[in-house]
Amino acid sequence: MPKGKGRRLDGRRALVTGAGSGIGEAVAKRLSADGARVFGVDLQGEVDRIADVTGSGINADLVSEAAAEMGGIDIVVPCAGITGFMPLEAHDDQFMHRVFEVNVFAVLRLIRDALPYLKKSEAGRIVTIGSTTSRFGDEGLTAYGASKHAVLGMTRSIAAEVGKFGITANCLQPGAIDTPMTAPAFTEMPEFKEFWQNKAALGRLGQPEDIADVVAFLCSDDARFMSGQGFFVDGGAMQRH
Ligand code: NAP
Repeated sequence: MPKGKGRRLDGRRALVTGAGSGIGEAVAKRLSADGARVFGVDLQGEVDRIADVTGSGINADLVSEAAAEMGGIDIVVPCAGITGFMPLEAHDDQFMHRVFEVNVFAVLRLIRDALPYLKKSEAGRIVTIGSTTSRFGDEGLTAYGASKHAVLGMTRSIAAEVGKFGITANCLQPGAIDTPMTAPAFTEMPEFKEFWQNKAALGRLGQPEDIADVVAFLCSDDARFMSGQGFFVDGGAMQRH
């Protein structure tokens, strides 16, 4: 049911990883502004728990800590992620495993471990973070692109499985967003920044808030009948050369 008075996420409890920087930080702030209690996790920044989300067991600990602190979990937004620009020939096993460990397995484990709590929620929400790399492909981002497409695939399968519990799962796929992840590349290679600006029909890089606002919508009651989708939030990115 649509909510009446008050903020749209009043009473909701959200677990957000990567909450100390960039998109995750903006998501944590936006969900808080909409009334949610947020438990933020990151390697850095102003969060509730400084922790590495990788490795078996860590997510179960984080999830139970977050649930104990907040009295349950209604929303899970795994934003922690890493990238890495390099030619395919330079992709060694260690790099590829690390990208998948952070971007795929840590996300999968977090959602798996949060599921018992989401099942108890009246409006469970899962919002994962993919990438437009799923759509266009990007030179130098083979492992990253593979990992982000895996996130889209897992989200759709999770949605199919958890819908019967009233839980939605969607994948938000950002275009180029101005964050600490992309800033070094944009500073070192101005032509790269220009390429991405031109690629967007709106002619600019995205800001973390451009993503956070849509995440908050997907977590709200307004998005109650949307699940199993991938949403590009990319300023209208076009394949331009
Ligand atoms: P960001 O500013 O670097 O934020 C990511 C945060 O996750 C950082 O604080 C990072 O810490 C943390 N993190 C990385 N590995 C972690 C781990 N093992 N455990 C706990 N925290 C960890 O990057 P962002 O641009 O906001 O990216 C957020 C998400 O959006 C990522 O999944 C990214 O792939 C995705 N995305 C970003 C863009 C973009 O253009 N920026 C586009 C599409 C998708 P450290 O900095 O200490 O590593």
